[in-house]
Amino acid sequence: MRVTLSTWFLTIGLTIGGCDTVDVQNVDGGVGLFVDGADGDGPINDRARVGASTGSLLINVGNVSGASAPNRNEVIAFGRRRAPTRTDTPWTDDGDSFDAALGNQLQLPVTVWIVQGPFSEQRDHAIEACIRTAAIWDDERVGVRFSAFDIKNATNDPDIDGDILDSVGGDNRNWDDFSDEIGFDEGRINIYWINTVDGSSGMGWSDFGGRIVMGKNTVDTLLAHELGHAFSLRHPINCNNGPTADFDDSNVMWQCVSTEREFFTEGQVFRIHFNDESSVNALYNARAGEPTVDCIGSVANAECPDQLRRLWADGAFPAN
Ligand SMILES: [Zn+2]
Repeated sequence: MRVTLSTWFLTIGLTIGGCDTVDVQNVDGGVGLFVDGADGDGPINDRARVGASTGSLLINVGNVSGASAPNRNEVIAFGRRRAPTRTDTPWTDDGDSFDAALGNQLQLPVTVWIVQGPFSEQRDHAIEACIRTAAIWDDERVGVRFSAFDIKNATNDPDIDGDILDSVGGDNRNWDDFSDEIGFDEGRINIYWINTVDGSSGMGWSDFGGRIVMGKNTVDTLLAHELGHAFSLRHPINCNNGPTADFDDSNVMWQCVSTEREFFTEGQVFRIHFNDESSVNALYNARAGEPTVDCIGSVANAECPDQLRRLWADGAFPAN
Protein backbone atom coordinates (compact mmCIF):
# COMPACT_ATOMS: atom_id res chain seq x y z
CA MET A 1 0.00 0.00 0.00
CA ARG A 2 2.76 2.39 0.92
CA VAL A 3 4.57 1.71 -2.37
CA THR A 4 1.45 2.34 -4.39
CA LEU A 5 0.88 5.69 -2.73
CA SER A 6 4.41 6.98 -3.31
CA THR A 7 4.27 5.88 -6.95
CA TRP A 8 1.02 7.81 -7.32
CA PHE A 9 2.57 10.96 -5.83
CA LEU A 10 5.64 10.62 -8.00
CA THR A 11 3.48 10.41 -11.11
CA ILE A 12 1.53 13.55 -10.18
CA GLY A 13 4.73 15.41 -9.38
CA LEU A 14 6.22 14.70 -12.81
CA THR A 15 3.05 15.80 -14.54
CA ILE A 16 3.02 19.14 -12.78
CA GLY A 17 6.73 19.78 -12.87
CA GLY A 18 7.93 19.35 -16.43
CA CYS A 19 5.23 19.05 -19.02
CA ASP A 20 4.61 22.48 -20.46
CA THR A 21 4.26 22.12 -24.19
CA VAL A 22 3.70 24.16 -27.32
CA ASP A 23 1.80 22.58 -30.22
CA VAL A 24 3.21 24.23 -33.35
CA GLN A 25 1.15 24.18 -36.56
CA ASN A 26 2.17 24.73 -40.21
CA VAL A 27 5.65 23.29 -39.71
CA ASP A 28 7.51 22.65 -42.98
CA GLY A 29 10.65 20.73 -42.09
CA GLY A 30 11.51 22.07 -38.66
CA VAL A 31 10.67 24.68 -36.07
CA GLY A 32 12.59 26.63 -33.45
CA LEU A 33 11.23 28.48 -30.42
CA PHE A 34 12.26 31.23 -28.06
CA VAL A 35 10.30 30.74 -24.83
CA ASP A 36 9.67 33.51 -22.29
CA GLY A 37 8.20 32.92 -18.85
CA ALA A 38 9.54 32.09 -15.40
CA ASP A 39 10.35 29.19 -13.15
CA GLY A 40 11.51 28.76 -9.56
CA ASP A 41 14.86 30.34 -10.40
CA GLY A 42 13.35 33.52 -11.87
CA PRO A 43 12.59 34.82 -15.35
CA ILE A 44 13.16 32.66 -18.41
CA ASN A 45 14.20 34.79 -21.37
CA ASP A 46 14.37 33.21 -24.83
CA ARG A 47 14.83 29.61 -23.77
CA ALA A 48 15.67 27.78 -27.02
CA ARG A 49 13.85 24.72 -28.32
CA VAL A 50 14.08 23.15 -31.80
CA GLY A 51 12.27 20.26 -33.44
CA ALA A 52 12.44 18.60 -36.85
CA SER A 53 9.18 17.55 -38.43
CA THR A 54 6.46 18.65 -40.81
CA GLY A 55 2.85 19.50 -40.12
CA SER A 56 2.05 19.65 -36.41
CA LEU A 57 4.77 19.31 -33.79
CA LEU A 58 4.45 19.12 -30.00
CA ILE A 59 7.48 20.66 -28.30
CA ASN A 60 8.24 20.21 -24.61
CA VAL A 61 9.49 23.55 -23.32
CA GLY A 62 10.33 22.39 -19.80
CA ASN A 63 8.82 23.67 -16.60
CA VAL A 64 7.50 27.20 -17.15
CA SER A 65 5.21 29.22 -14.90
CA GLY A 66 4.07 32.77 -15.36
CA ALA A 67 3.29 34.20 -11.97
CA SER A 68 5.42 37.12 -10.83
CA ALA A 69 7.60 37.03 -13.95
CA PRO A 70 8.68 40.56 -14.83
CA ASN A 71 9.06 39.66 -18.50
CA ARG A 72 6.31 38.64 -20.87
CA ASN A 73 4.89 35.16 -21.24
CA GLU A 74 5.21 34.32 -24.91
CA VAL A 75 6.66 32.00 -27.51
CA ILE A 76 8.33 33.17 -30.72
CA ALA A 77 8.35 30.46 -33.40
CA PHE A 78 10.59 30.27 -36.50
CA GLY A 79 10.40 27.80 -39.37
CA ARG A 80 11.39 27.19 -42.96
CA ARG A 81 9.17 28.76 -45.63
CA ARG A 82 7.08 30.34 -42.86
CA ALA A 83 6.85 33.73 -41.22
CA PRO A 84 7.85 33.75 -37.55
CA THR A 85 5.04 34.37 -35.09
CA ARG A 86 4.65 35.54 -31.50
CA THR A 87 2.08 33.76 -29.35
CA ASP A 88 0.93 34.77 -25.88
CA THR A 89 1.40 31.88 -23.46
CA PRO A 90 -0.02 32.73 -20.01
CA TRP A 91 1.84 29.96 -18.20
CA THR A 92 0.48 28.67 -14.89
CA ASP A 93 2.03 26.46 -12.20
CA ASP A 94 0.27 23.47 -13.78
CA GLY A 95 1.22 21.65 -16.96
CA ASP A 96 0.17 23.99 -19.75
CA SER A 97 -0.15 23.48 -23.48
CA PHE A 98 -0.57 26.29 -25.99
CA ASP A 99 -1.03 26.30 -29.75
CA ALA A 100 1.31 28.38 -31.92
CA ALA A 101 0.85 28.52 -35.69
CA LEU A 102 3.65 29.63 -38.00
CA GLY A 103 2.52 32.22 -40.56
CA ASN A 104 2.59 32.24 -44.32
CA GLN A 105 5.67 33.81 -45.87
CA LEU A 106 5.23 37.54 -46.36
CA GLN A 107 4.91 38.49 -50.05
CA LEU A 108 6.87 41.64 -50.80
CA PRO A 109 7.03 43.31 -54.25
CA VAL A 110 10.04 45.43 -55.29
CA THR A 111 10.88 47.57 -58.29
CA VAL A 112 14.34 47.79 -59.83
CA TRP A 113 15.28 50.82 -61.92
CA ILE A 114 18.25 50.18 -64.22
CA VAL A 115 19.79 53.65 -64.44
CA GLN A 116 23.34 52.79 -65.56
CA GLY A 117 23.39 50.57 -68.65
CA PRO A 118 23.91 48.57 -70.66
CA PHE A 119 20.34 47.63 -69.77
CA SER A 120 20.37 43.95 -70.71
CA GLU A 121 23.60 43.35 -68.79
CA GLN A 122 22.41 45.10 -65.65
CA ARG A 123 18.97 43.51 -65.90
CA ASP A 124 20.67 40.09 -65.77
CA HIS A 125 22.80 41.32 -62.87
CA ALA A 126 19.65 42.31 -60.96
CA ILE A 127 18.03 38.95 -61.70
CA GLU A 128 21.09 37.11 -60.38
CA ALA A 129 20.98 39.22 -57.20
CA CYS A 130 17.27 38.47 -56.87
CA ILE A 131 17.84 34.72 -57.15
CA ARG A 132 20.70 34.80 -54.63
CA THR A 133 18.69 36.88 -52.16
CA ALA A 134 15.67 34.59 -52.42
CA ALA A 135 17.90 31.56 -51.80
CA ILE A 136 19.40 33.15 -48.67
CA TRP A 137 15.92 34.02 -47.38
CA ASP A 138 14.81 30.41 -47.93
CA ASP A 139 17.86 28.83 -46.33
CA GLU A 140 17.79 31.16 -43.33
CA ARG A 141 14.05 30.87 -42.59
CA VAL A 142 13.60 34.60 -43.10
CA GLY A 143 9.91 34.12 -43.90
CA VAL A 144 9.67 36.67 -46.71
CA ARG A 145 9.69 36.28 -50.48
CA PHE A 146 9.51 38.51 -53.54
CA SER A 147 5.95 38.60 -54.87
CA ALA A 148 7.20 40.75 -57.76
CA PHE A 149 10.65 41.77 -58.95
CA ASP A 150 9.83 44.37 -61.59
CA ILE A 151 12.78 45.67 -63.62
CA LYS A 152 12.40 48.97 -65.46
CA ASN A 153 14.69 50.43 -68.08
CA ALA A 154 15.53 53.97 -66.96
CA THR A 155 18.79 54.21 -68.89
CA ASN A 156 17.33 56.77 -71.29
CA ASP A 157 15.72 58.96 -68.62
CA PRO A 158 16.59 62.58 -69.57
CA ASP A 159 16.83 63.52 -65.88
CA ILE A 160 19.89 61.33 -65.31
CA ASP A 161 22.91 63.42 -64.38
CA GLY A 162 26.24 62.88 -62.68
CA ASP A 163 24.78 63.26 -59.18
CA ILE A 164 22.44 60.36 -59.89
CA LEU A 165 24.87 58.08 -61.73
CA ASP A 166 27.68 58.57 -59.20
CA SER A 167 25.84 59.14 -55.95
CA VAL A 168 27.68 60.38 -52.87
CA GLY A 169 26.73 61.43 -49.36
CA GLY A 170 26.20 58.31 -47.24
CA ASP A 171 22.89 58.53 -45.37
CA ASN A 172 22.47 62.12 -46.61
CA ARG A 173 22.76 61.36 -50.29
CA ASN A 174 20.46 62.73 -52.99
CA TRP A 175 17.64 60.28 -52.19
CA ASP A 176 14.89 62.54 -53.52
CA ASP A 177 16.67 62.82 -56.89
CA PHE A 178 16.07 59.11 -57.38
CA SER A 179 12.43 58.98 -56.33
CA ASP A 180 11.51 62.32 -57.94
CA GLU A 181 13.57 62.17 -61.14
CA ILE A 182 13.90 58.46 -61.94
CA GLY A 183 10.66 57.14 -60.48
CA PHE A 184 9.15 55.55 -57.42
CA ASP A 185 6.54 52.82 -57.09
CA GLU A 186 4.56 53.50 -53.92
CA GLY A 187 4.19 50.87 -51.25
CA ARG A 188 7.31 48.91 -52.15
CA ILE A 189 11.08 49.09 -52.00
CA ASN A 190 12.64 50.75 -55.07
CA ILE A 191 16.17 49.74 -56.04
CA TYR A 192 18.21 52.02 -58.30
CA TRP A 193 21.10 50.32 -60.10
CA ILE A 194 23.53 53.14 -60.87
CA ASN A 195 27.25 53.47 -61.67
CA THR A 196 28.98 54.13 -58.33
CA VAL A 197 27.96 54.67 -54.70
CA ASP A 198 30.32 56.90 -52.74
CA GLY A 199 32.96 56.33 -55.38
CA SER A 200 32.74 52.52 -55.57
CA SER A 201 30.99 50.44 -58.22
CA GLY A 202 30.84 47.60 -55.64
CA MET A 203 28.99 49.55 -52.97
CA GLY A 204 25.30 49.81 -52.10
CA TRP A 205 23.28 51.90 -49.66
CA SER A 206 19.80 51.87 -48.12
CA ASP A 207 17.77 54.72 -46.67
CA PHE A 208 16.28 52.17 -44.18
CA GLY A 209 13.00 52.62 -46.04
CA GLY A 210 11.82 52.44 -49.64
CA ARG A 211 15.02 53.36 -51.51
CA ILE A 212 18.26 51.47 -52.22
CA VAL A 213 21.13 52.39 -54.53
CA MET A 214 23.44 49.73 -55.98
CA GLY A 215 26.73 50.18 -57.83
CA LYS A 216 27.03 48.50 -61.22
CA ASN A 217 29.51 45.83 -60.06
CA THR A 218 27.98 44.88 -56.70
CA VAL A 219 28.17 41.20 -55.66
CA ASP A 220 24.84 39.38 -55.70
CA THR A 221 24.64 38.95 -51.93
CA LEU A 222 24.83 42.71 -51.38
CA LEU A 223 21.17 43.02 -52.36
CA ALA A 224 20.24 40.79 -49.40
CA HIS A 225 22.41 43.06 -47.23
CA GLU A 226 20.78 46.32 -48.36
CA LEU A 227 17.31 44.82 -48.05
CA GLY A 228 18.33 43.80 -44.52
CA HIS A 229 18.85 47.51 -43.78
CA ALA A 230 15.42 48.26 -45.27
CA PHE A 231 14.12 45.69 -42.79
CA SER A 232 15.69 47.69 -39.91
CA LEU A 233 18.88 45.62 -39.48
CA ARG A 234 22.12 47.30 -38.51
CA HIS A 235 25.70 46.08 -38.91
CA PRO A 236 26.14 43.72 -35.95
CA ILE A 237 29.73 44.78 -35.24
CA ASN A 238 32.35 47.23 -36.44
CA CYS A 239 34.04 45.00 -39.00
CA ASN A 240 37.22 47.08 -38.91
CA ASN A 241 37.96 45.40 -35.57
CA GLY A 242 37.82 42.01 -37.28
CA PRO A 243 35.55 39.02 -36.64
CA THR A 244 34.22 38.40 -33.12
CA ALA A 245 33.12 35.26 -31.29
CA ASP A 246 29.63 35.79 -32.75
CA PHE A 247 29.98 37.40 -36.19
CA ASP A 248 32.21 37.28 -39.24
CA ASP A 249 31.83 37.97 -42.95
CA SER A 250 29.46 35.01 -43.35
CA ASN A 251 26.67 37.07 -41.80
CA VAL A 252 24.56 38.91 -44.37
CA MET A 253 24.82 42.16 -42.39
CA TRP A 254 28.63 42.10 -42.28
CA GLN A 255 29.68 45.70 -42.85
CA CYS A 256 32.94 45.37 -44.79
CA VAL A 257 33.56 43.84 -48.20
CA SER A 258 32.47 40.21 -48.32
CA THR A 259 31.63 37.65 -50.96
CA GLU A 260 30.62 35.14 -48.26
CA ARG A 261 27.41 36.62 -46.88
CA GLU A 262 24.86 33.84 -46.35
CA PHE A 263 23.53 33.75 -42.77
CA PHE A 264 20.95 35.60 -40.69
CA THR A 265 20.69 34.90 -36.95
CA GLU A 266 17.23 34.33 -35.49
CA GLY A 267 17.77 37.58 -33.57
CA GLN A 268 18.01 39.30 -36.95
CA VAL A 269 15.01 37.47 -38.44
CA PHE A 270 13.01 38.51 -35.37
CA ARG A 271 13.90 42.16 -36.03
CA ILE A 272 12.98 41.91 -39.74
CA HIS A 273 9.43 40.91 -38.86
CA PHE A 274 8.64 42.60 -35.57
CA ASN A 275 10.50 45.94 -35.52
CA ASP A 276 8.09 48.82 -36.10
CA GLU A 277 10.81 50.52 -38.21
CA SER A 278 11.20 47.52 -40.52
CA SER A 279 9.80 48.06 -44.01
CA VAL A 280 7.84 44.85 -43.43
CA ASN A 281 5.66 46.96 -41.12
CA ALA A 282 6.41 50.62 -41.89
CA LEU A 283 6.24 50.33 -45.69
CA TYR A 284 4.47 47.09 -46.65
CA ASN A 285 2.16 46.85 -43.63
CA ALA A 286 2.48 43.11 -44.20
CA ARG A 287 1.54 42.24 -40.62
CA ALA A 288 -1.44 44.57 -40.25
CA GLY A 289 -2.79 44.65 -36.71
CA GLU A 290 0.04 42.54 -35.29
CA PRO A 291 2.12 43.93 -32.41
CA THR A 292 5.52 45.45 -33.13
CA VAL A 293 8.63 46.10 -31.04
CA ASP A 294 11.52 48.53 -31.00
CA CYS A 295 14.59 46.29 -31.06
CA ILE A 296 17.02 48.32 -33.16
CA GLY A 297 20.62 47.12 -33.26
CA SER A 298 22.21 45.14 -30.46
CA VAL A 299 19.63 45.98 -27.77
CA ALA A 300 18.73 42.86 -25.77
CA ASN A 301 16.05 42.69 -23.08
CA ALA A 302 12.84 40.86 -22.18
CA GLU A 303 11.23 42.13 -25.39
CA CYS A 304 14.22 41.84 -27.72
CA PRO A 305 16.16 38.62 -28.31
CA ASP A 306 19.82 39.51 -28.70
CA GLN A 307 20.67 39.88 -32.39
CA LEU A 308 23.43 37.28 -31.95
CA ARG A 309 20.93 34.57 -30.86
CA ARG A 310 20.87 31.46 -33.08
CA LEU A 311 18.45 28.54 -32.87
CA TRP A 312 20.42 26.73 -35.57
CA ALA A 313 24.12 26.87 -36.41
CA ASP A 314 25.33 29.45 -38.93
CA GLY A 315 28.37 27.77 -40.45
CA ALA A 316 31.09 27.83 -37.78
CA PHE A 317 28.82 29.55 -35.24
CA PRO A 318 26.77 27.05 -33.21
CA ALA A 319 23.29 27.56 -31.83
CA ASN A 320 23.50 29.72 -28.73
ZN1 LIG B 1 25.40 47.93 -44.65
